Amino acid sequence: MMTANEIRDSFKKFFESKQHAIVPSAPMVIKDDPTLMFTNAGMNQWKDIILGTRDPEPRRRADTQKCLRVSGKHNDLEEVGHDTYHHTMFEMLGNWSFGDYFKEGAIDMAWEYLVDVLKLNPEDLYVTVFEGSPEENIPRDDEAAKYWAKHVPEDHIINGNKHDNFWEMGDTGPCGPCSEIHVDSRTPEQKAASGKSGRELVNQDDPQVIEIWNLVFMQFNRKADGSLEKLSMNVIDTGMGFERLVRMMQGKHSNYDTDVFQPIIKAEQDITGLKYFTFEEETENPISKEQDDINVAMRVCADHLRAVAFSIADGQLPSNAKAGYVIRRILRRAVRYAYTFLGQKDGFLYKLIPTLVHEMGDAFPELKAQQQLITKVIKEEEDSFLRTLDKGISLLDMAMEEIRSKGEKELNGEQAFRMFDTYGFPLDLTELICRENGFTVNEEQFNVEMQKQKERARNAAAVENSDWVELAQGEQQFVGYDYTEYECHIIRYRKVTQKKNEFYELVLDNTPFYGEMGGQVGDCGVICNESETIDIIDTKRENGQSVHIVKQLPKDPSAQFMACVDTDKRNASAANHTATHLLDYALKQILGDHVEQKGSFVSPETLRFDFSHFEKVTDEQLREVERMVNDMIRQDIHIDEHRDVPFDEAKKLGAIALFGEKYGDKVRVVRFGPSCEFCGGIHASSTGRIGFFKIISESSVAAGIRRIEARTGKECEELLYNIEDTLRAVKSFFNNAKDLQGVIKKYIEEHDSMKKEIEGFQAQAVERYANQFIERAREVNGVKVVTAVLPMTPAAAKDLAFKIRASVEGSLLCVLGTHDNNKPQLSIMMSDDMVSGHGLNAGQMVREAAKLIQGGGGGQPHFAQAGGKNVDGLSAAVDKVIELASL
Ligand code: ATP
Ligand code: MG
Repeated sequence: MMTANEIRDSFKKFFESKQHAIVPSAPMVIKDDPTLMFTNAGMNQWKDIILGTRDPEPRRRADTQKCLRVSGKHNDLEEVGHDTYHHTMFEMLGNWSFGDYFKEGAIDMAWEYLVDVLKLNPEDLYVTVFEGSPEENIPRDDEAAKYWAKHVPEDHIINGNKHDNFWEMGDTGPCGPCSEIHVDSRTPEQKAASGKSGRELVNQDDPQVIEIWNLVFMQFNRKADGSLEKLSMNVIDTGMGFERLVRMMQGKHSNYDTDVFQPIIKAEQDITGLKYFTFEEETENPISKEQDDINVAMRVCADHLRAVAFSIADGQLPSNAKAGYVIRRILRRAVRYAYTFLGQKDGFLYKLIPTLVHEMGDAFPELKAQQQLITKVIKEEEDSFLRTLDKGISLLDMAMEEIRSKGEKELNGEQAFRMFDTYGFPLDLTELICRENGFTVNEEQFNVEMQKQKERARNAAAVENSDWVELAQGEQQFVGYDYTEYECHIIRYRKVTQKKNEFYELVLDNTPFYGEMGGQVGDCGVICNESETIDIIDTKRENGQSVHIVKQLPKDPSAQFMACVDTDKRNASAANHTATHLLDYALKQILGDHVEQKGSFVSPETLRFDFSHFEKVTDEQLREVERMVNDMIRQDIHIDEHRDVPFDEAKKLGAIALFGEKYGDKVRVVRFGPSCEFCGGIHASSTGRIGFFKIISESSVAAGIRRIEARTGKECEELLYNIEDTLRAVKSFFNNAKDLQGVIKKYIEEHDSMKKEIEGFQAQAVERYANQFIERAREVNGVKVVTAVLPMTPAAAKDLAFKIRASVEGSLLCVLGTHDNNKPQLSIMMSDDMVSGHGLNAGQMVREAAKLIQGGGGGQPHFAQAGGKNVDGLSAAVDKVIELASL
C-alpha cells in the first residue's frame, strides 16, 4: 500500500514526466490580495498569469497547494468532522497549462495518472461535463465529452449544471466549463444493499460517492456587464483533493482512516484515554451517540490543528480581526469540541503538534522550522479561550436561571449572539448547554443579529469597481529601481467607489512609482505635462502591477505625461527599508538564528519590524543591535542588487527567503554587506544614506512575537532635539546644576524624609485632638456629641474620626468639618447603636448637609464623608448634621 508521502511524490513525478515544472505550494495565507484572505484553490497563485499580466513561461506547471476553505465563496467549516471528506485545510494537487495543451491533454493525463499509474478501478470512476446554458448561449461541452468517451463508457459520462460544471474566477474575469471525476468508493456490501448505481449517486452528497478531481477549462472572459468573450489564452486548471485520493488508494472509506490523519488521532486517543472508531470498526459495531460525539470531536481537532498550525507557519497568527479572526474561530471551535466531548479542560491541541510535525514536517519544512512558535501560540490561545469558556458558561447559567424564574423555555437570540460575540461561543455550543438544561435557543433572532453584524461589516468594506477603460495595449514596465521620473502614458483606468468616495485607478505603461508591497508603503507624487498636473495620492499593487490612485482624471487621458515620484518621501522610505534589513541581520547576530521576520511596516516616517523571539529583548541587547546597525551605516555599504535571479540560485546566494514567500520564476536579491534578502522593495543606494538608526520601542504583539519600532535620519534629529529640550527644561528647574542626577536624587531624598516627618506630626496632632475633643464633648440625652471645625487633610480627618470612635464608650455622634488647601470636607462618625437604635444613617445625613458646602458624598450608615467647594459653609454644615440627628 502506498503511503501518503509516496502518493504525493508520485503525482509530482508523473507530471514531471509530462514536462511540467514542479513548483512549491504558495503560502496558504495571502498577503497582497484585497479580495482573498486565504488560498482556496491551486490556481490562486497563478491569477496574474491567467489575467495576462505575468509571463506564462513555463507553460506547464504542477504542485501540491495548501488550501483553506473556511470563509467566502468556499466555506466547508460546518461539514468538517461531521462528514469524512471535507477539511478546513487540505492539499490540492494540481496541474496547469497556460496556452499549451487544452481539454484533450488534460483529460488524457488525468486518466492515465488515475488508471494506469495508480490503478484505480475504472468501473468506479464517473465524469461530469457541462450541459450548456441556453440563456447564455453556451452549448454543451461536447468536446470534453468526446475526449472522455475515449476512456469511459457513455453511461459513466454525466451532464452537470452551471452550479457544478461552470467555473468562474469571480463576478468578472476568466471562466469556463469544467469536468469533475467522481469515485464510487462504496464497499461491495453497500453497493448490493443500496440497489443504486454509482451514476445515480454522483453529486447526491453520498459520503462514499465523492468528487476527487476537477478539471477546469478556462476559455471565456466575463465582462462587468455579464457578457462573455473569448479568452486570449486558453488555460487548464485542475485540482484534486490529496486526502481523498489517499483514501481511495489506501482502500479506506473515510479520509480520517488514512495515514494522513491516523497518527494524530492516535495521539488524541493516548492523551484523552478515549477511543476512536474507524469506519470498519463502526460498521462491525454500531456506536452510541456519545461515541459518535467523541469521533466527531477527534476528527474536528485533528483537522483544525492542521489548519491553525499551517496558518501560523505562514505568518498568520490568530487575532480578533480579518484573517486572524478566521484562524481564532477555527481554533476555538476545536477547543470547545475537546472541552465538551473529550473532557479536556486544559490546553490540548498544542500537545498534538509533535505528531503533526513528525508526519508532515518533511513535505512542509516551514512546520518544522516554526514548531516552537506554533506550539507557543496555540497553547496561549487555548489557555485564553478556556478562561472565557468558563466565564461564558457561568454567564449562560445566570441567563438560564433568569428564564427559569420567569417560567420561560427559550433563551433569546440576542443573548445567544452576545455569547457568540463577546465570549466567542459558537451558536451550537450555546444551544448544547441550553439543551442540557431543558431550554432552547431562538435561532431566528440569533440569525437576525448575525445578519445585522454581517451587514455592518459589508457596508464598511463595500468597494465598487467599474470596468477598466483600455486606452492602449501592453503590459506595464516598472522602472522605479532606476528612475524617479519617467515618460509615460495611461494604458487603462477605472473608477472606484468606496464609502461614497470616488477615485480613479490608473495603470501606466512605464512607471517609476512603487506600489505598496512587502510592508513598504506606496509612492506618491504627480503625473504632469504642459497642460496639467494630477496628484497621485497613493500607489497600490494589484496582480503584480503598480496601480496609481488619483482623485481626478486628466482632461486628456491619452496624452503623454511625466510621472514624478515625491523623492523626499521616497528617499526616507528607502532608508527605512534598508535599515529594516540591517536590523533583521543584527537581531539574528545578537539574539540568535531563531529570529525570523513576521511582518514589517516601512513608511517615510517610521519603521516597524515584527519577529519571532520568546522573551523581552533587554535594554543591553537593544543597545548592541543599535550599535551594530549604526556601525554598518557608517561603513556606507553600497547596495548589491541582483534582479531576475532564478529562485534556487537566489537561495544559493544565501538570501533569506521568508517562509510564505511566493514562488516566482525570478526573484530580486538585495545585499548590503552580510545582509542578504529576497526583496522587491526600494532601497537606499548605500547604507550611509540612513544617517542614523535609533530604536524607540520594543514590545510584544502576540505570543512569541516581538515588535521593534525605530527611526532613522532626519526623524532621529527630531528625537534628539526633543530629548535635549526636555533635559534643558529640567536643568533650569534646578538652577542649571552641573551634577543634575545628584541634585535630583538629593531632592527626592529630602522630599521623602519631609513627607515622613509631616505624617508623624499629623499622627501626633490627631492623637491630641482626639483627646481634646472627647474631653470637651457635650452630652445630649445620653449621647456624646463631638463637633469641631479645623484645618486638616481628609485622610487625617478620617483617622481622627476613627480614633474618637475607638476611645468613646457608649453612644457617640461625631461631626468634623475640616479644610485643606481651601477645600472643605465633612465627616460623620457614629457608634453602631445610633444606627440601629436611633435609626440614623450617616450617608444620608452627609448628603443633605453637604449641600451647605456645595458638595456631595456618601458612605456607610455609621461613617460617611463629603467634599465640597464652599469652605465658608462648614460650620453651618456641621450644625445641620446635629439638627438632622434631632437628639
Ligand atoms: P465538493 O463538492 O466535494 O465540496 P468542490 O466542488 O468544492 O468539492 P473543487 O472546488 O472543485 O471542489 O476543488 C477541487 C478538489 O479539491 C475537489 O475535487 C476535492 O477533491 C478537493 N476538495 C474540495 N474541497 C475540499 C475540502 N473541503 N476538503 C478536502 N478536499 C476538498
Ligand atoms: Mg465544495
